[in-house]
Amino acid sequence: MNSLGLYLHIPYCLHKCGYCDFNSHPENQAEAEVYISALLAEIDHYAVKLKEKRVPTVFFGGGTPTILPPDHLDKILGRVKNRFDLTQNCEISIEANPATVECETLEQIRLSGFNRISIGVQSFDAEELKLLERVHNQEEIHTTVDRARQAGFNNLSLDLMFSLPGQSPEKWKSHLQQAVNKKPDHLSAYGLTIEPATSFFKLQERGLLQLPHEDIQLEMLETTIGFLQSAGYEHYEISNYAKPGYECQHNLNYWNNGEYLGLGAGASSYLNGERFKNINLPSRYIREVQVGGTAVESTERLEPLHAMGETIMLGLRQLKGISIENFENRFQVSFNTVYGKVLAPLLEERLITLNQNRMALSRKGLFIADSVILKFLA
Ligand code: SF4
Repeated sequence: MNSLGLYLHIPYCLHKCGYCDFNSHPENQAEAEVYISALLAEIDHYAVKLKEKRVPTVFFGGGTPTILPPDHLDKILGRVKNRFDLTQNCEISIEANPATVECETLEQIRLSGFNRISIGVQSFDAEELKLLERVHNQEEIHTTVDRARQAGFNNLSLDLMFSLPGQSPEKWKSHLQQAVNKKPDHLSAYGLTIEPATSFFKLQERGLLQLPHEDIQLEMLETTIGFLQSAGYEHYEISNYAKPGYECQHNLNYWNNGEYLGLGAGASSYLNGERFKNINLPSRYIREVQVGGTAVESTERLEPLHAMGETIMLGLRQLKGISIENFENRFQVSFNTVYGKVLAPLLEERLITLNQNRMALSRKGLFIADSVILKFLA
């Protein structure tokens, strides 16, 4: 494979949200300065090794990338452009938190070359934002979206969350309506899940936090799909919706099991059949990169059966599913020989569809996607 998605992790946030299990740490300006130097060194290290690769997507995620001053973001992106072979229409995304972006920031990062922005809205309701411990308010959502458009971002995505404690399907629908009113090109809608090692997990254990009943959660997912489709968004991945031509190319590469390089603390990579992951803690990441140019903590070479399972797991997240022919060519196996016994009952229960040699989740399968996908990993 000759193309490579590039991910850069900025691990700092103004405040740790109660549900967050991402690799995010409290803002630390002094450390961030050194972190950027380490990131630049890591860019240099890999660019030499991967100079044959073309880069069609770059994604700055976090944490909160926009917590860094725009000139720092410009410096990092400048180094990426300088060292890697970015394609002419390279999609260059940045995640933004409404509480961290001024008008000038948006103009500057657009001028630096970022051409796609993903804004973490989560909710339009003050009480829900407080519950999630988000640091922005409703007004900041509106001004950030409007200013991003004024700054020239014509590929704009909003992130929303549903299945929040105490949230009704009607309330959720009103958030969808408000989101659609902002005319984003792309929307991600994630159901809240409670992960271990979060403060929400502890609250749940003490019986102080309860998600809506499973049936309500399914109703919200069904509402999301119907509402966004009728507003002109294609449902292309379990949690993602796009106007035609605005699917997130960076994530599509990931779901298609393409190669990607993750730079920064805790970032993961998939290259030449190997998965590897960097050290999470920014201070340790910095030390390792200063010594040897990289900060890899663990490496795993995927055995064929594992690699096949992952391809199916990622591919089925997309509504179009996976091409059996491509799968067989890639792994040089008969799909039926390896997965015939898994597939038969799923087809019988109408959880999977098989059309024109493509396998996809059915509408029924979509609602229990995780358990259907698990069957291919057993
Ligand atoms: S802003 Fe995002 S990355 Fe940062 S703590 Fe909140 S959920 Fe986590």
